[in-house]
Amino acid sequence: MIALARKYRPKKFADLIVQEHIAAALRGAVAGGRVAHGYLFAGPRGVGKTTAARILAMALNCERRGSGTAGEPCGECDSCTRVWTGAVNLDVVELDAASNRGVDDARDLRERAMYAASGEGRHKVYIVDEAHMLTREAWNALLKILEEPPPRVVFVFATTEPQKIAQTAAPILSRLQRFDFRRIGPHAIVDRLRHVVSAEGLSADDEALHLIAKSADGGMRDGLSILDQVVSFGEGPVTAARVREVLGLISDDVYGELLRLVSERDPKAVFPLVERLVDAGADLGEFVAGAGEIVRAVLLANLGGKPEGLTEPMQELLGKYRSLLPAPDLVRLLAVLTELEPQLRSSGNARLAVELLLLRWAMMSRTVEIGQVLEALGMRQPGSGMRDAGSGPATPPVLRDTSSGAPATPPASRIPHPDPPEKGPLTLDRLRALWPRIVDDARTKSPMLGALLQVTEVAAVDAGAVTIRLLDTNAVHAEGLERQREALSQLVTRYLTGPVRIKLEGAEGGGSRERSAPRPTRLTEEGARAERLKTLRAQDPSLNAAVDALDLELLE
Ligand SMILES: [Zn+2]
Repeated sequence: MIALARKYRPKKFADLIVQEHIAAALRGAVAGGRVAHGYLFAGPRGVGKTTAARILAMALNCERRGSGTAGEPCGECDSCTRVWTGAVNLDVVELDAASNRGVDDARDLRERAMYAASGEGRHKVYIVDEAHMLTREAWNALLKILEEPPPRVVFVFATTEPQKIAQTAAPILSRLQRFDFRRIGPHAIVDRLRHVVSAEGLSADDEALHLIAKSADGGMRDGLSILDQVVSFGEGPVTAARVREVLGLISDDVYGELLRLVSERDPKAVFPLVERLVDAGADLGEFVAGAGEIVRAVLLANLGGKPEGLTEPMQELLGKYRSLLPAPDLVRLLAVLTELEPQLRSSGNARLAVELLLLRWAMMSRTVEIGQVLEALGMRQPGSGMRDAGSGPATPPVLRDTSSGAPATPPASRIPHPDPPEKGPLTLDRLRALWPRIVDDARTKSPMLGALLQVTEVAAVDAGAVTIRLLDTNAVHAEGLERQREALSQLVTRYLTGPVRIKLEGAEGGGSRERSAPRPTRLTEEGARAERLKTLRAQDPSLNAAVDALDLELLE
């Protein structure tokens, strides 16, 4: 059985996938008799540089030239077959610069180039692979040829590193016509693999083909070689499981578990996960690379991009976890990965290094939503009047300032409850019945206030005042409600015919926490806010930047 990579190597310009721009230019040059003496084919490995050079050599020497599409070789005549198979050929010489880099070879090349092509109407084509490996002396010899090129001699230099040629042999570049070959994307590779699979009468899962394309990393030849390996290994359809087994790939559910433990901050799940990998004989380096890739894919998706080449299960994982992992968190995960990378590579104990990475990921504190922070700090609280200055945050306050005695109707920009509240008298029963709805109302405006009110009940009402009792003893909750008292008063007033004051009561049924109630610490309110802000800033550099951008350090 002929290797698939070889069997399906293109024989015509039209078969060169992804590099259509180059194929069209070369075909046009052959058809129009405008072929240059020197070409530079630059691009990553496996994208068709050497293949394109061979097709050019075939087209220039095809015995049936002009019988088909202008500029295309027939691909079947004796000459075409010899070039295509790499058989000994007087007119087409392939050299690997990696093994022929000395000045002697260049001199030899020069002498050989002086001989004209073997026959009338034929071209002598030199294909130099890995051309960046040629020495300066070799390039100098070649430069002399290219300055006065013999008729019907064509040089094609293929390289993955054109910048090295620019360093060692800049003058030669001006003598060469350069083509940059594109990397072949996973979709194009999958399409081509699908075509080959059906042409071979085989069957393969889409997921299997995606995995192969991913491993091929932009190289069509590698993609076909991998398919070959997988096909030769076992019977029946090519499945994702078979591909994983042959390539020693780590299964997608391992990455699913990884995303889960990171998003749920579940460090204790790290050890079983790594143990599972080690037991399965997985390559931990590959696991780390895959982990970085999936985190990057989630980040890309969160920033509005479209990650390419993911298998279906991976796409599902992405959909599941993207909302749980905000972009700043993902950036920090990647930063930790980059930071630990040297250790991961050099560590004698790879297992410990991977565990350390995952533990840091699972234990990392999360980005706090700036809105929540501002609310927690009481900066969005109406009546404070502190953010009216030009230096205030760009986001409009959720609740407007009523300190000037403005009417309590909501501003037009606020999203109202679906049904406008019906105003009525202030009675304990009525307010208790309305309470769940008021809590809902609060939540649509401020998740923080909604959460705080979740642990409250209406304790009492009397002339113009409502006493709200906090059902837990959490001092932070008490403090938060205290700050939101004015907002709460507005909310409640929407359901009442007259204005109302809010009193807060602690969980123990102790004294009302009205404004002069003693605080648990001796800090002033301003001092407490500054302290909290400092802690939050220390925890999260991105918040730090946001706070600076909003000019909030005035508080400190
Ligand atoms: Zn031919």
